[in-house]
Amino acid sequence: MALQKVTGITKRWLINGLGTVFVFLALLVAAFILLTRNYYYRGVQSELLSYANSSADLFERYIKGGNFDLESGLRDFVANFQDKEIVEVQLINNEGAIVLTSTGFGRSGETAPDWDGTVTGKDNTASWRGKSSVGENVMSVCVRISEKGAKTAYGLRYVTSLRLVNAEMRSATLAIIAIALAVLFFVMLSNSYFVSTIINPVKEIGRTARNIALGHYDVRIEKRYNDEIGELTDTINYMAGEIATTEQMKNEFISSVSHELRTPLTSIKGWSETLSELGTEDEEMTKKGLKVISGETDRLARIVEDLLDFSRMQSGRFSVQIEKMDLLAEVEDSVMLYRDRAKREGITLKYMENARVMLPIEGDRIRLRQVLVNVIDNAIKYSKSGGTVRVEAAEIGEFAQVVVSDTGIGISDEDLEHITDKFYRAGKNGGIPGSGIGLAVVDEIIKKHNGTLEIESDEGVGTTVIITLPKKQPQTEKETV
Ligand code: ADP
Repeated sequence: MALQKVTGITKRWLINGLGTVFVFLALLVAAFILLTRNYYYRGVQSELLSYANSSADLFERYIKGGNFDLESGLRDFVANFQDKEIVEVQLINNEGAIVLTSTGFGRSGETAPDWDGTVTGKDNTASWRGKSSVGENVMSVCVRISEKGAKTAYGLRYVTSLRLVNAEMRSATLAIIAIALAVLFFVMLSNSYFVSTIINPVKEIGRTARNIALGHYDVRIEKRYNDEIGELTDTINYMAGEIATTEQMKNEFISSVSHELRTPLTSIKGWSETLSELGTEDEEMTKKGLKVISGETDRLARIVEDLLDFSRMQSGRFSVQIEKMDLLAEVEDSVMLYRDRAKREGITLKYMENARVMLPIEGDRIRLRQVLVNVIDNAIKYSKSGGTVRVEAAEIGEFAQVVVSDTGIGISDEDLEHITDKFYRAGKNGGIPGSGIGLAVVDEIIKKHNGTLEIESDEGVGTTVIITLPKKQPQTEKETV
């Protein structure tokens, strides 16, 4: 297996997660080793102490009994010591030198390292651990024995090898290290599985997101987990779907705008060619031609204006100039604007003014006119000959309301939800050209006036657009918003 450079989450996990577990286990092992060592050595020491204390008691009793030669008693004791197989007992003289040992091997002359400690030690005892003269690890306990008032004191020193104890401690240490390593290995195994359940999906999500960035909106990530990663997967998939829809809408928008631009351009070109061929003789034709050219130029200007508004909306530069204005006058003007067209197309355009006196409202005159024109234009555009478009204006408390209803083709329920989205055009709009940004701009203007736009529609029956605007704008909104 090729060694890979550990990076990213794996590296962080190795340093933080595994590093912490490692340090914790190392401390646990160290504590265990210290405790067992203490436990074992204390055991040996208390064994030696019980030898020392019982022999000290014994000799105290002899001394108390009187007429007792301490030195020869001690020599006898050492020479005849029963447990010499496990413990070696040594006789120490007043200078701390070993004078006799139970093993019989002459260590005489060597000094006992614990002798001096017996003067101050508890029960006249002292303990020592170290290497013996032959290099063996040993532990000893020495007890000072003396007759009352006598100048010379003797010591009995019990010595035992730590070889067995050390071997036992070594195996316990090895066992605990093995357990710690096993735990570490298990933690590593389970965590690397866990980390891989994060890294692999994240990598896959990254790959898919790059693909989406390159324009492959149809790619989707398979959802394997029902957790945060699963949620992220869902979000990315949702995002890809939304981008695909927007992209499709954008393409449709470009094609419908091109179409929208081409129609008036064709008409202008046609009429200007006709007029140049005809010359100025036929006054009637010239007038008609110029009227068409002017009308079509207006249409072009409206489309360009829509596009500009849309781009302002996108970049957040869309603003309204709030001032006192006469909404009724604007409604009337907008209706007037469409009177001829409605007549031409065989549509009845009715204007009903319910407000006895509509007070002036605070709003952007030009923008609100744009709203009205757009909504009335749609009502006529999506109505068939013989239909009726009604425009009503009313004052409801603190609000002014304009309702535009038609008996046109209507909008399906699914389309109704998205009708104010940019570029959105209903599937069944009868092939009537449009850019799909009119209502998005209308919605934005009404929002900027703190008003509401409601659209109710029944497919094949008609559509009602209700525009509600507060008569007064909050103080802060009065200037340019
Ligand atoms: P467009 O330029 O396509 O008219 P709009 O944003 O003004 O764009 O309208 C979006 C879509 O809403 C239209 O394409 C049409 O499908 C639908 N729509 C708007 N007004 C009406 C209406 N009065 N009757 C039926 N459909 C409408």
